[in-house]
Amino acid sequence: MFHNTLLKPQIPFIVVSVGRKCTLRCKNCGSMNPFAPKDTMTYNMQKTIRHLDIILKHSLVEMIQIQGGEPFCHEQLPLLIQYLLENRKDEKIMIATNGTLMPKFDVSLLAHDRIEVRISNYPVIGDKGEKLKAFLEAAGVYCTIYQFAKGKGVWTLRGGGGGGRTER
Ligand code: SF4
Repeated sequence: MFHNTLLKPQIPFIVVSVGRKCTLRCKNCGSMNPFAPKDTMTYNMQKTIRHLDIILKHSLVEMIQIQGGEPFCHEQLPLLIQYLLENRKDEKIMIATNGTLMPKFDVSLLAHDRIEVRISNYPVIGDKGEKLKAFLEAAGVYCTIYQFAKGKGVWTLRGGGGGGRTER
């Protein structure tokens, strides 16, 4: 007899977008967020959690990347984090931020060994990413700086062309 978990598909990585609102307007944004319709700026968080819950109950997901747009734009981001911490126990959680916004909620929520905040080092943000990192680390949050526009992180343009561009 098969153990139940053997029947579930294994998914190494999924992306959950909480909305397309962003503080930057990058040329060549892979999600075309600078051109997103107004009604897609902020996704309904309860609905997102409901849908994610179904996926997670029927599969084995290793890593969940939460992003936007800019995820810290979404006022209800803590609800999603709370859901993942209180109802799930295995998935790693990565919050991918562009580093431009200080979260408005109590960031001690993010001080958990399953959570990483990954700050993309877009050249246009100056030292904001480093300031955000220092702020989060002071609260015990694990943070990394993602070399988004350098080395392996350079974008590849769809349909050919050169590397990443992050101008506003
Ligand atoms: S920060 Fe990311 S989501 Fe926002 S416009 Fe730039 S590439 Fe797109």
